[in-house]
Amino acid sequence: MIRPILRYGERVLQQPAADVTRFDRTLEQLIDDMVATMYAAPGVGLAAPQVGVPLRVFVVDDSAGTTHHGLVVMINPVFVERDGMQLEEEGCLSVPGFNATVVRPARAVVRGLDRAGNEHTIEGLGLLARAFEHEMDHLDGRLFVDRLRGIRRDLIVRKIQKLKRAGKW
Ligand SMILES: [Zn+2]
Repeated sequence: MIRPILRYGERVLQQPAADVTRFDRTLEQLIDDMVATMYAAPGVGLAAPQVGVPLRVFVVDDSAGTTHHGLVVMINPVFVERDGMQLEEEGCLSVPGFNATVVRPARAVVRGLDRAGNEHTIEGLGLLARAFEHEMDHLDGRLFVDRLRGIRRDLIVRKIQKLKRAGKW
Protein backbone atom coordinates (compact mmCIF):
# COMPACT_ATOMS: atom_id res chain seq x y z
CA MET A 1 0.00 0.00 0.00
CA ILE A 2 1.30 3.42 -0.94
CA ARG A 3 1.31 5.77 2.04
CA PRO A 4 1.16 9.57 1.95
CA ILE A 5 4.59 11.20 2.27
CA LEU A 6 4.75 13.92 4.91
CA ARG A 7 6.27 17.26 3.99
CA TYR A 8 8.75 19.63 5.55
CA GLY A 9 7.17 21.26 8.60
CA GLU A 10 5.58 18.10 10.02
CA ARG A 11 6.76 17.51 13.57
CA VAL A 12 7.59 13.81 13.10
CA LEU A 13 10.19 14.79 10.47
CA GLN A 14 12.03 16.92 13.02
CA GLN A 15 12.26 14.39 15.83
CA PRO A 16 14.77 11.57 16.36
CA ALA A 17 13.17 8.19 15.63
CA ALA A 18 13.19 5.26 18.08
CA ASP A 19 14.83 1.86 17.65
CA VAL A 20 12.68 -1.00 16.37
CA THR A 21 12.20 -3.59 19.11
CA ARG A 22 9.47 -5.80 17.63
CA PHE A 23 9.84 -7.77 14.41
CA ASP A 24 6.17 -8.44 13.77
CA ARG A 25 3.48 -8.15 11.09
CA THR A 26 3.22 -4.40 11.65
CA LEU A 27 6.91 -3.97 10.81
CA GLU A 28 6.58 -6.24 7.76
CA GLN A 29 3.67 -4.13 6.52
CA LEU A 30 5.54 -0.90 7.17
CA ILE A 31 8.54 -2.07 5.13
CA ASP A 32 6.37 -3.34 2.26
CA ASP A 33 4.51 -0.03 2.19
CA MET A 34 7.71 2.02 2.36
CA VAL A 35 9.18 0.13 -0.61
CA ALA A 36 5.96 0.57 -2.62
CA THR A 37 5.80 4.26 -1.71
CA MET A 38 9.46 4.85 -2.65
CA TYR A 39 9.08 3.14 -6.04
CA ALA A 40 5.81 4.91 -6.80
CA ALA A 41 7.23 8.36 -6.04
CA PRO A 42 9.78 7.50 -7.56
CA GLY A 43 12.70 8.06 -5.21
CA VAL A 44 16.00 6.45 -4.27
CA GLY A 45 15.25 6.35 -0.56
CA LEU A 46 12.56 6.69 2.09
CA ALA A 47 12.72 6.78 5.88
CA ALA A 48 9.89 5.70 8.19
CA PRO A 49 9.35 9.20 9.68
CA GLN A 50 8.46 10.37 6.15
CA VAL A 51 5.33 8.20 6.32
CA GLY A 52 4.65 9.32 9.89
CA VAL A 53 6.20 6.37 11.72
CA PRO A 54 8.89 7.46 14.23
CA LEU A 55 11.02 4.31 13.95
CA ARG A 56 14.61 3.79 12.80
CA VAL A 57 13.87 2.13 9.46
CA PHE A 58 14.85 3.21 5.96
CA VAL A 59 14.75 1.74 2.48
CA VAL A 60 17.09 2.72 -0.34
CA ASP A 61 17.42 1.66 -3.96
CA ASP A 62 20.05 3.52 -5.95
CA SER A 63 18.53 2.12 -9.18
CA ALA A 64 15.15 3.63 -8.13
CA GLY A 65 13.50 0.27 -8.81
CA THR A 66 14.84 -0.29 -12.31
CA THR A 67 16.74 -3.47 -11.35
CA HIS A 68 15.29 -4.69 -8.03
CA HIS A 69 18.79 -5.86 -7.05
CA GLY A 70 19.46 -2.53 -5.49
CA LEU A 71 16.92 -2.62 -2.66
CA VAL A 72 18.42 -2.14 0.81
CA VAL A 73 16.28 -2.38 3.95
CA MET A 74 17.98 -1.04 7.08
CA ILE A 75 16.57 -1.30 10.60
CA ASN A 76 18.30 0.39 13.56
CA PRO A 77 21.25 1.36 11.33
CA VAL A 78 24.54 2.85 12.47
CA PHE A 79 27.47 4.21 10.50
CA VAL A 80 30.53 1.97 10.58
CA GLU A 81 32.65 4.20 8.36
CA ARG A 82 32.32 7.42 6.42
CA ASP A 83 35.07 8.92 4.33
CA GLY A 84 35.79 11.21 1.43
CA MET A 85 33.51 13.96 0.25
CA GLN A 86 31.09 14.62 -2.60
CA LEU A 87 29.12 17.70 -3.54
CA GLU A 88 26.02 16.89 -5.58
CA GLU A 89 22.51 18.23 -6.05
CA GLU A 90 19.94 16.37 -4.05
CA GLY A 91 16.29 16.54 -3.24
CA CYS A 92 13.88 14.86 -0.85
CA LEU A 93 10.39 13.41 -1.25
CA SER A 94 9.41 15.47 1.83
CA VAL A 95 10.64 18.69 0.20
CA PRO A 96 9.15 18.36 -3.31
CA GLY A 97 10.23 20.89 -5.90
CA PHE A 98 13.46 21.88 -4.17
CA ASN A 99 17.04 20.81 -4.77
CA ALA A 100 20.33 21.90 -3.30
CA THR A 101 23.98 20.96 -3.36
CA VAL A 102 24.79 19.12 -0.15
CA VAL A 103 28.14 17.92 1.22
CA ARG A 104 28.08 14.14 1.68
CA PRO A 105 30.69 11.42 2.21
CA ALA A 106 31.99 9.71 -0.95
CA ARG A 107 31.82 6.37 0.86
CA ALA A 108 29.61 5.25 3.73
CA VAL A 109 29.35 1.85 5.37
CA VAL A 110 26.14 1.20 7.30
CA ARG A 111 25.38 -1.71 9.64
CA GLY A 112 21.87 -2.60 10.72
CA LEU A 113 19.28 -5.34 10.69
CA ASP A 114 17.43 -6.63 7.66
CA ARG A 115 13.70 -7.32 7.67
CA ALA A 116 14.26 -10.79 9.13
CA GLY A 117 16.23 -9.29 12.01
CA ASN A 118 19.62 -10.48 10.78
CA GLU A 119 22.58 -8.12 10.93
CA HIS A 120 23.97 -6.88 7.63
CA THR A 121 26.62 -4.37 6.67
CA ILE A 122 26.50 -2.55 3.34
CA GLU A 123 29.07 -0.31 1.71
CA GLY A 124 27.75 2.60 -0.31
CA LEU A 125 29.77 4.53 -2.87
CA GLY A 126 28.67 7.67 -4.70
CA LEU A 127 24.88 7.89 -4.91
CA LEU A 128 24.40 5.08 -2.40
CA ALA A 129 26.71 6.78 0.13
CA ARG A 130 24.77 9.98 -0.31
CA ALA A 131 21.44 8.21 0.09
CA PHE A 132 22.66 6.44 3.24
CA GLU A 133 23.57 9.70 4.95
CA HIS A 134 20.39 11.43 3.72
CA GLU A 135 18.22 8.64 5.19
CA MET A 136 20.24 8.43 8.42
CA ASP A 137 19.64 12.17 8.78
CA HIS A 138 15.87 11.52 8.56
CA LEU A 139 16.15 9.07 11.47
CA ASP A 140 17.82 11.85 13.49
CA GLY A 141 15.09 14.36 12.62
CA ARG A 142 17.12 16.23 10.05
CA LEU A 143 16.32 17.11 6.42
CA PHE A 144 18.79 18.19 3.72
CA VAL A 145 17.52 21.75 4.12
CA ASP A 146 18.88 21.70 7.68
CA ARG A 147 22.37 21.00 6.32
CA LEU A 148 22.32 24.19 4.26
CA ARG A 149 23.64 27.47 5.59
CA GLY A 150 22.62 31.10 5.47
CA ILE A 151 20.70 32.46 2.52
CA ARG A 152 20.56 29.13 0.67
CA ARG A 153 18.56 27.68 3.56
CA ASP A 154 16.52 30.84 4.16
CA LEU A 155 15.49 31.00 0.51
CA ILE A 156 14.01 27.49 0.53
CA VAL A 157 12.34 27.94 3.94
CA ARG A 158 10.79 31.23 2.85
CA LYS A 159 9.43 29.74 -0.38
CA ILE A 160 7.92 26.83 1.56
CA GLN A 161 6.27 29.24 4.02
CA LYS A 162 4.84 31.15 1.07
CA LEU A 163 3.46 27.91 -0.43
CA LYS A 164 1.97 27.02 2.97
CA ARG A 165 0.21 30.36 3.25
CA ALA A 166 -1.20 29.82 -0.24
CA GLY A 167 -2.42 26.37 0.82
CA LYS A 168 -0.14 24.68 -1.71
CA TRP A 169 2.07 22.74 0.72
ZN1 LIG B 1 14.57 12.72 2.23
